[in-house]
Amino acid sequence: MLRLPVLGGLLTVLAPVMIAASPVGVYLEFDEPPSEAAVATMRKEAAGVLDRVGIGIAWRLVSQNQGNEPFERLAVVKFTGKCACGGFLPASREILVLGTTAVVDGRVLPYSEVRCDAVRRVLPDIEYASDHRLGDAALGRVLGRVLAHELYHAVLGTVHHGASGLAKGFQSTADLKSDEIAFDGGDWELQPAPAQ
Ligand SMILES: [Zn+2]
Repeated sequence: MLRLPVLGGLLTVLAPVMIAASPVGVYLEFDEPPSEAAVATMRKEAAGVLDRVGIGIAWRLVSQNQGNEPFERLAVVKFTGKCACGGFLPASREILVLGTTAVVDGRVLPYSEVRCDAVRRVLPDIEYASDHRLGDAALGRVLGRVLAHELYHAVLGTVHHGASGLAKGFQSTADLKSDEIAFDGGDWELQPAPAQ
């Protein structure tokens, strides 16, 4: 008779661990063909910062979706503009929106957008990099950080912003390019993932 409560207790403890271990399916869609180097670096950067908070990512393209993968959580991310350095977009000193996640009737939905042209405009040293391969890799790292921030909203279903780190709502260009930027401890413990 004692075994049932013990087993129940174990399941309660194990359930959040199992959910955390299950990768989030992230479906990417690009308006224009992106730089492959930028996308590879973006995935690596986003996967790295999310891995540190216990979130695994299974990357997919919307165009390859067959609608039959049993992800417990998934997000769809659309990339607008062209995700490659071009050497022609005028620099902007305005505050530009680099990424958004849909909110309808106060509920956060797992649909995000990353604005590649806006990222290129706030980082002219990357946009005008003399070596395009290095520029695309640097662009990809910043895009990975913007993507990780939007996935924080989309996966957790939260509009909350942190006071520092990657969960902050406003990022300086220096922060976006810094060698080290990460989520703060506890950022991903706000609330359980919403049922999909
Ligand atoms: Zn945000």
